Amino acid sequence: MYWVCNVSTCNRPRTALAFCSVNGWDAHVPMLRHRDSWAEERKSPTPAEWTRQQRDAVTKERRGRR
Ligand SMILES: [Zn+2]
Repeated sequence: MYWVCNVSTCNRPRTALAFCSVNGWDAHVPMLRHRDSWAEERKSPTPAEWTRQQRDAVTKERRGRR
């Protein structure tokens, strides 16, 4: 279980900020000057899901460069 920021720029695959607690998320809000933001609770993916997500991300990136 972890926390993510709801702001889209913090959720890009390249950035993919994750926080182990709400305190950690809270600390980054002033740094990035979010106005409307909240923390979202997430569950860590299983190893199989993680592998699939990484593969998908690479595939998309290759397509984008063509
Ligand atoms: Zn953020």
